[in-house]
Amino acid sequence: MSGDYDVVIAGGGIHGVGIAQAAAAAGHSVLLLEKTALASGSSSRSSKLIHGGLRYLESAQLRLVRASLHERSTLLRIAPELVQLQRFHIPVYRRTRRRPWQLRIGLSLYAVLGGFATGTGFGTVPRSQWAQLDGLDTEHLQAVYWYHDAQTDDALLTAAVMRSAQQLGAELAQPACFVAATLTDDAAIVRYRQHDTDRECRARVLINAGGPWAGQLARQISPSIPVPPLQLVQGTHIVLPGRPERGFYYVESPRDGRAIFIMPWHGQTLIGTTELPFHGDPDSVAPTAREVAYLLGVARHYFPKYRAMNASTVKDSFAGLRVLPAGAGHAFHRSRETLLLTDRIQRPRVLSVYGGKLTTWRAVSARVLQQVAASLPTRRARARTDQLPLRAH
Ligand SMILES: Cc1cc2nc3c(=O)[nH]c(=O)nc-3n(C[C@H](O)[C@H](O)[C@H](O)COP(=O)(O)OP(=O)(O)OC[C@H]3O[C@@H](n4cnc5c(N)ncnc54)[C@H](O)[C@@H]3O)c2cc1C
Repeated sequence: MSGDYDVVIAGGGIHGVGIAQAAAAAGHSVLLLEKTALASGSSSRSSKLIHGGLRYLESAQLRLVRASLHERSTLLRIAPELVQLQRFHIPVYRRTRRRPWQLRIGLSLYAVLGGFATGTGFGTVPRSQWAQLDGLDTEHLQAVYWYHDAQTDDALLTAAVMRSAQQLGAELAQPACFVAATLTDDAAIVRYRQHDTDRECRARVLINAGGPWAGQLARQISPSIPVPPLQLVQGTHIVLPGRPERGFYYVESPRDGRAIFIMPWHGQTLIGTTELPFHGDPDSVAPTAREVAYLLGVARHYFPKYRAMNASTVKDSFAGLRVLPAGAGHAFHRSRETLLLTDRIQRPRVLSVYGGKLTTWRAVSARVLQQVAASLPTRRARARTDQLPLRAH
């Protein structure tokens, strides 16, 4: 047995590192296992937004929007090098499905749910300034709304949270692949593989933070634990040359009305995302030619300068997987809340994290700690995660 820990975490995405930080801050001994590299899953393939999620208002996910906007404020305060407010533009054309009055109501509600904090104001761009909007098509344009949300570098944020966890005493094993766990009365015996060697450790609580792999990981635990019905949904982004200078654009796909972001990213333009049901091994997720064509089509529709571009102009593309509750209807309208599931109600030995947002990692990590508190010894807390600064390097 190579160790005895309060908390062992499988998966080094934003949730795994966030839970490592929260557990270490609460004074617990922590080991995090990551099979490839930190943030190699969804946490480096997101749209990189720390946002309330304006579009979740349409599906009445008010609690999620309020919690996300609260987290946005916290991250702007504790991680100013990593999370910055940006100006977003929403153009409304004669044929746009979301009408100006709907946007005004949505943006007002967004400001209310954000507690009228910094970055919750909104307005319209005067017609005289439309020509300065990065070549946005102005034919049949009726209005352009602006508001603010925040952008981050998801992989850098994940690395920063892990560094913070390590400064509080958490250990990182990477690459180290979780293989299986056996539950005893009051612990989990965790087997993992590191440098071609099988290792074993004991955890008072095992956290399954495997993101799209979480279902697989849960099935490697015996005796078996409940696994909810889930669906993996692929989301692709493409990168085009050149950078929008005026900020971000939040547009509607002319084909199906889905919301698409067109945003600056490391001197280029990042466009996403798609939603394609995914079946198969999460390791094999990759952009499809149809997704690339769909995103390019959106860019061409709104910005005539892209009309000369084709798939060969695309500088880069990447795909990630969302973990959503299985259900009828389009994934676009399904809940983005994080599901936390324990093996038993009293003194859980395992907690699995399913789904969720990059934005809410800190709040979700705090909830995880609360849910497993009864299984952990009382320790002297070392810090509060809403007060710990996060730095880019
Ligand atoms: C296309 C897309 C766009 C998104 N955009 C946004 C956005 O703009 N804003 C936002 O707030 N949220 C966004 N999200 C959601 C957000 O990215 C995810 O909720 C979040 O990154 C999930 O993090 P995670 O830690 O749960 O999973 P992951 O980041 O996938 O981490 C899981 C980790 O587990 C590891 N692992 C797997 N198996 C094992 C094993 N056997 N042993 C050890 N380690 C293992 C993997 O290597 C991986 O690193 C987006 C998601 C997608 C897919």
